[in-house]
Amino acid sequence: RAARNAGDAVRGYVPSMGQIFLRRFQLVTQFRQALDTGQVRVHYQPKVALPGREVLGVEALVRWVHPEFGRLDPDEFVPAVEATGLVDALTSFVMDNALAKVRGWLDRGLRLSAAVNLSVRNLADESFPDRVAEALRRHDVPPRLLTFELTESGVMSDPERALPVLRRLHALGVVLAVDDFGTGYSSLAYLRQLPVDEVKIDKSFVLGMGTDLGDMAVVRSIVELGHSLGLTVVAEGVEEDAARDQLVEMGCDVAQGYLISRPLSEDRFEAWLRARTVRARGRRDETVLTL
Ligand code: C2E
Ligand code: MG
Ligand code: MG
Ligand code: MG
Repeated sequence: RAARNAGDAVRGYVPSMGQIFLRRFQLVTQFRQALDTGQVRVHYQPKVALPGREVLGVEALVRWVHPEFGRLDPDEFVPAVEATGLVDALTSFVMDNALAKVRGWLDRGLRLSAAVNLSVRNLADESFPDRVAEALRRHDVPPRLLTFELTESGVMSDPERALPVLRRLHALGVVLAVDDFGTGYSSLAYLRQLPVDEVKIDKSFVLGMGTDLGDMAVVRSIVELGHSLGLTVVAEGVEEDAARDQLVEMGCDVAQGYLISRPLSEDRFEAWLRARTVRARGRRDETVLTL
């Protein structure tokens, strides 16, 4: 313990409450400008079909390269942004980037979908579905190629407001996924009430599967529950071959994780994709395979 404390002292300082508050304030006040000046970027992480290796699409994950604090992951700034009206701008920014990518892939004969994470605030915003419809038209992307990921707590914090928004999104034809499943209220009954198509098993269970029989049991039962409700089941946090093999054995439909790829910048994702794209013989369109 002493050695660990010494290590902490060498690595840096422990920020005071005042410093944490100040930084949060700075992040919120600087976010609008960060969006406009290219400091905020979207990274893409592939999702592949099991048991094969076909690339189905990507999850769009936001990053902020801050001039003073360096690269910030979403957990460091999304909660602060969510507490403000700026979350609309964040979601629109990520959705626009993702839809532009999907359109570009379609133009090259690649049918890949993109998933965008929603905030609770989006689900409380009655005008959100109209903005989504407008963005789909503007980018000329079929609704089935856009997925929204929402957390259980995001829906359950105010189901009266969230449900009508979800129903309208679903009516547009976009795919709805429950993210981080198993960590929130986890009422299995409520899952049946929601107009969702997909359930994503939280990565903590998938990461623990190799060493913890309890995690393994949770993953197995989510796969079974999801299938019994007719949902596509996605596992995130697939880091090892052993986990992938177990997920295949359980019948899980889709895998996402470092084993396949980390989230990549646009350029690096394009290079990753090119290395895995083969032109199908005798066909004009391309088939995507991971090698
Ligand atoms: P999430 O939606 O559950 O996204 C998956 C997170 O797991 C990502 O973290 C991803 O980098 C990480 N991950 C993927 N594969 C693995 C793996 O094999 N092992 C491990 N250890 N981690 C893996 P990231 O990018 O830091 O995002 C964290 C969270 O921030 C996301 O969790 C999501 O809730 C939120 N977020 C990200 N982008 C956005 C956004 O555009 N808008 C909103 N509202 N939230 C976002
Ligand atoms: Mg997600
Ligand atoms: Mg998740
Ligand atoms: Mg999360």
